[in-house]
Amino acid sequence: MIKDRFGRQVDILRISVTQECNLKCPYCHREGEMDKGALMSPEEIAKIVSACARAGIKKVKITGGEPLIRKDIAEIIAQIADIQGIEDISMTTNGVLLSGMARELKIAGLKRINIGCDSYTSSILEKTADNIKPGIVAAKETGLETIKLNMVVLKDVNSDEIFKMIEFSKKYGAILQLIELIETKDSKVFFTEHYYSLKDIEKELASKADTVETRSMHNRRRYHFSGAVVEVVRPNRHDFCANCRTLRVTSDGKIKPCLMRNDNLLDVVCGIREGICDEELEKLILMGIEKREPYVR
Ligand code: SAM
Repeated sequence: MIKDRFGRQVDILRISVTQECNLKCPYCHREGEMDKGALMSPEEIAKIVSACARAGIKKVKITGGEPLIRKDIAEIIAQIADIQGIEDISMTTNGVLLSGMARELKIAGLKRINIGCDSYTSSILEKTADNIKPGIVAAKETGLETIKLNMVVLKDVNSDEIFKMIEFSKKYGAILQLIELIETKDSKVFFTEHYYSLKDIEKELASKADTVETRSMHNRRRYHFSGAVVEVVRPNRHDFCANCRTLRVTSDGKIKPCLMRNDNLLDVVCGIREGICDEELEKLILMGIEKREPYVR
């Protein structure tokens, strides 16, 4: 097990495979990516994941942009699935292209999926129940182990739909993940207008819950009641960073120690392109882990 300088276990790699997306969500943090360099190939991604696995990473989350617009996404998953030490591969997707691809992804080695679903019917948000239903059904039919629906909760947009979305998720056997809005550099006005604290909702969920789990990742609470499962992600909570276990890699091959910062990136793919050996690559990964610092302390 590897820990960073702040004693935080680092066992999750969140790897972006593209910055391109087929939707335009008004709140999107784009995984904190600012520059757009050349994309990594499946082989380069696999080399980075292998070095991370040797350093102690066990779980990989694939993100973007929209991962499913990469034509070689199944190949990327298959190469990661072959790496010794990687126990879990999951993906976050907007779900639009999922119905035609779920089977191929599962066969390649995908275990779990997060599908964006911000609203039941909103006209402003594109990730709606209607748009993603076929993707959820296909994910269920292929037997993916866990399906989570990601709902970024926004004041005056979808904050009144939380309980409707809980019912919807329950009906489809999915966990609803309620996510508090994160402020980005380009979204200060949007954040001021639409930030919605999930503190009161958590109190309400706690009062209804049969059981409450606390997950080690970000100290997230998971509420179980009447057949529904709801997880709450509150990046604005004081202890969020203290419980972060994730190292990030940008779509152009840079280690990104924190979603919120771009002043401490470490280019690893350029090393691969220059032909560095496995040991040197692993050293770079360890240097990236060394750069991790809680953004909020
Ligand atoms: N296109 C994919 C998708 O829609 O899931 C993957 C990329 S998207 C950046 C990954 C997740 O980040 C989304 O599901 C959304 O829940 C979350 N997200 C994006 N911007 C956010 C923000 N400003 N605050 C909180 N969560 C955000």
